[in-house]
Amino acid sequence: MLSVKQFQTQVLRWYDEHGRKQLPWQQQSTPYRVWISEIMLQQTQVATVIPYFERFMLRFPDVGALAIAPLDEVLHHWTGLGYYARARNLHKTAQQIIADYDGEFPQDIIALEQLPGIGRSTAGAIYSLGMQQSAPILDGNVKRVLARFFAIAGWPGQSSVLKQLWDCAERHTPAHRCHHYNQAMMDLGALVCTSSKPACAQCPLESHCQARLLEQTHCFPGKKPKKSLPTKQCYMLLLQEGDNVLLRQQPPVGLWGGLWCFPQVEMNVDVQQWTQDHLGIRLQQPTVWEPFTHTFSHFHLVIHPLHQQLDGNNVCQVMDHSAQIWYKLRQPPKLGLPHPVSYLLGKLL
Ligand code: SF4
Repeated sequence: MLSVKQFQTQVLRWYDEHGRKQLPWQQQSTPYRVWISEIMLQQTQVATVIPYFERFMLRFPDVGALAIAPLDEVLHHWTGLGYYARARNLHKTAQQIIADYDGEFPQDIIALEQLPGIGRSTAGAIYSLGMQQSAPILDGNVKRVLARFFAIAGWPGQSSVLKQLWDCAERHTPAHRCHHYNQAMMDLGALVCTSSKPACAQCPLESHCQARLLEQTHCFPGKKPKKSLPTKQCYMLLLQEGDNVLLRQQPPVGLWGGLWCFPQVEMNVDVQQWTQDHLGIRLQQPTVWEPFTHTFSHFHLVIHPLHQQLDGNNVCQVMDHSAQIWYKLRQPPKLGLPHPVSYLLGKLL
């Protein structure tokens, strides 16, 4: 077995030669830039994140700019990244940092962990990569490397497995050059110890990796137990008048919280009656578009779009609603839109 010191040395040597050093958030690295990149990178690949990160930094270059921005604009810059609670939490956290910490990130890892949307691993990344302090991280890439190297069986979503992984991460995180070590572990997971085809021959840990020695790299980490997701169905009402289409804002919490959507009607509801009661207009032979499926983490949603062209008279009848707009297709305002809504708006153009 490698000693802790040897493990760290191998990883840091590999980093010096092969680690990533040119990622946008590594340039003029600050706690703010590391935080934004870490949140964007949750569930999303680096290549996808880079253009989002660059646009976000242009518009919200620091925590103060983010805190005073309208939430709609923050969600607009998140459109396409999914998991919108992340963007709402960013906004809330920026406001909290201004209010409680005078605009500076707390220099204490426990205080960092308590900010909305910042878990233990993100706090560790901000602390190490953004402040050059020592703290362990455990994102998906690091979990994979550690689970394989130490042959830690089981799905990391189980608390006993997660605890073993955190123990390993803590034990192996160096006090010196921690930011390079953490970056190296993330890079190893992303570039070498990939989930389907680990390139063990290029790995600095190969000679002592338990999964490799057992020829069972595919067994670690354990897979999440499969659960079949339920399916729900709904209508989406695409009510269009010329260049305008009706959108409503979702309540701030819950599914697609704060995002702008077409009016949605459950399938077991009389859609004509609903439209009359809630919007004040009669649906007259709407065009039925091809249904499509959007998958959330906990269910599939089959969306049945109904498109209705309205004339000026219909538009005047549409009931007022505080969170409702006529969205201009050719001059779109900066709003947060869930993916299925962006997709349908694209088809309306
Ligand atoms: Fe991953 Fe292979 Fe390296 Fe083990 S030897 S950590 S399985 S890349």
